[in-house]
Amino acid sequence: DVTTTSGIEFEDYSLKRELLMGIFELGFERPSPVQEESIPQVLSGKDILARAKNGTGKTAAYLIPILQKLDPYLHDIQSLIIVPTRELALQTSNIAKELSKHMGVRVMVATGGTILREDILRLQDIVHLLIGTPGRLLDLIRKKVASMVGCDVMVLDEADKLLSMDVNESLPQILRHLPDERQVLLYSATFPVSVKSFCGRHLNDPYEINLMEDLTLKGVTQYYAYVEERQKVHCLNTLFLRLQIQQSVIFCSTRSRVELLARKITDIGYSCFYIHSQMLQSYRNRVFHDFRKGNCRNLVCTDLFTRGIDIPTVNVVINFDFPSNAETYLHRIGRTGRFGHMGIAINFVTEKDIPLLFRIEQELNTTVTAIPPEVEKRLY
Ligand code: ADP
Ligand code: MG
Repeated sequence: DVTTTSGIEFEDYSLKRELLMGIFELGFERPSPVQEESIPQVLSGKDILARAKNGTGKTAAYLIPILQKLDPYLHDIQSLIIVPTRELALQTSNIAKELSKHMGVRVMVATGGTILREDILRLQDIVHLLIGTPGRLLDLIRKKVASMVGCDVMVLDEADKLLSMDVNESLPQILRHLPDERQVLLYSATFPVSVKSFCGRHLNDPYEINLMEDLTLKGVTQYYAYVEERQKVHCLNTLFLRLQIQQSVIFCSTRSRVELLARKITDIGYSCFYIHSQMLQSYRNRVFHDFRKGNCRNLVCTDLFTRGIDIPTVNVVINFDFPSNAETYLHRIGRTGRFGHMGIAINFVTEKDIPLLFRIEQELNTTVTAIPPEVEKRLY
């Protein structure tokens, strides 16, 4: 949902008329929440660390203020936008061109997989806004065909992906060529350690935007149950007795643990399917299909399927084994509470998991509470 009711209008940012025209011609009526937070902060010169779900308008959240700050009468490259893939670079440049249609801004894309010489030729011409992937950009900068002396804004879009790919440290190297007075804007779906350490090193007192928790964890009440490893099955049995499960998804860390747990659940008298990567695809499809139809109440699985499952009747997610990072946690928990349905997530936490639970709570800016003896029915 990219609409908002806060009453802020694009007109309120004193944008150039030509830019406003581009915005309205794209059909945007008012800023989305991430745009509302991002636009004034970028305009005021702040570094940005933004986390917001996909499809919420992050592209325009940085493009609009960047275009506003850009001076088309200068011949410098004034902004650099770095994205992980060629497709995304092209898509972003198309939006930039649409937005700046009436502004006389020159946008160029430079990515791997194309002829370097052509990029070099195109850089002989005026370019104001350069969009590309890290390797090619660094190459052009090193060859001194793309000058960064006038480039005072750098964006990392899909920063988590970019930084996890960046094994040879292209991004810090590119940054070194930018002037000292520059803004770094970082947009990411999750904040893994790679993003955090990059921010710590290269961002200056960033303005933080966090619209993830709202969108993803809304409708899901999160609990933990402190258990020892050998009590887990017993604890699960207790939950089966106490909770009104429409359907549940139960996550284990490995394939063998999935199979073992599925057997134990069947042994204690509950119906259960299981699914993991070593099963035949045709069989996997059938299990999914049957689970979705409601033929079975419980599904035990590994993380392999975290992102694929979308079953509205799942009202309980159980992390039988606690996930190893926030991103996985988010995707697992997201199996319930979808489309305004309510759901609960229960985390089995052993002593060694506790520090990780704290970290994930912090990282996702959320709270996981101890499971009470009675869980209120209206929460799921
Ligand atoms: P994200 O990068 O967060 O995944 P995008 O920037 O790709 O999201 O935008 C998602 C969709 O929302 C695009 O189709 C875009 O045109 C549209 N969109 C973005 N901002 C607005 C807005 N203010 N009003 C209407 N539609 C918008
Ligand atoms: Mg995006």
